[in-house]
Amino acid sequence: MYDEQAVKSQIEQVEKSLKQTHYTPGEKLKVGIDLGTAYIGIVVLNEQDAPVASELQEAHVLKDGIIVDYVGALQIVKQLKEKLEKRLGVTLLKASIAMPPGTESSIKTHSHVIEGAEMEVSHILDEPTAANNVLHISEGVVVDIGGGTTGLSIFKEGKVVYVADEPTGGTHLTLVLAGSHHLSVEEAESFKKNPIHQSEVLGSVKAVIEKMATIVKNHIKGYTVDTIYLCGGTCCLHGMEKVFEKTVGIKTIKPSNPLLITPTGIAMSC
Ligand code: ATP
Repeated sequence: MYDEQAVKSQIEQVEKSLKQTHYTPGEKLKVGIDLGTAYIGIVVLNEQDAPVASELQEAHVLKDGIIVDYVGALQIVKQLKEKLEKRLGVTLLKASIAMPPGTESSIKTHSHVIEGAEMEVSHILDEPTAANNVLHISEGVVVDIGGGTTGLSIFKEGKVVYVADEPTGGTHLTLVLAGSHHLSVEEAESFKKNPIHQSEVLGSVKAVIEKMATIVKNHIKGYTVDTIYLCGGTCCLHGMEKVFEKTVGIKTIKPSNPLLITPTGIAMSC
């Protein structure tokens, strides 16, 4: 049974904790590394899963969840790790990672990047499970819209019963915006993320979001789904959830910081 108030308060708690830093020198730290097609991010939590620090860098070293530039990926992970270690005065020894559905054959390459940055791989999980470490949903569909891919996972009684990965995401929105506004891809990317342009951006890319929502609608046909939970950086776009809700006809919820849901969930498993 869907309890809107309970879900909202869960999400608010996570958001509140993400804004605070809880770290007592010497305590064990949990590290999650998200190797994405648009960003590489590291989230550090304390033993109680409260946030300690995070670093995020734009990266183009993966395609469709697969590493295409190993040296580049390694360099970025090393740099982010060093920054965090300097800031916290500790050496990060272990980290967990997550794989998008359908990319399990690349686990070794992902692990080599972590090991190359002198960390032991603690746990390897799938991205939907990572997101659900934060969301704690037992019924519904989690839709993770990243840069190059959109992953969706249907949950029944807390377990993943169906996953799919589609080659669409924020990069697609950027390209449409570049065309409609006569901007370079780089210019369109910053235009898209600028808070002052959000309603104009939403208007220009609404048809693409409707298409993404229709793809989700087709995947969930045949399942009883009463709530869509959005996460992934692309869902930072204001109003995205409204377009989804209208197109699919199912209640759609998104936390105010969807970019950090998956990396935080990865760290929780460390
Ligand atoms: P993938 O899941 O495809 O591997 P990823 O994990 O790198 O990629 P995320 O970090 O979840 O993906 O999201 C990256 C996408 O989020 C990029 O396309 C970026 O442009 C988009 N994005 C980030 N912030 C915003 C914002 N404020 N408004 C709109 N889009 C945003």
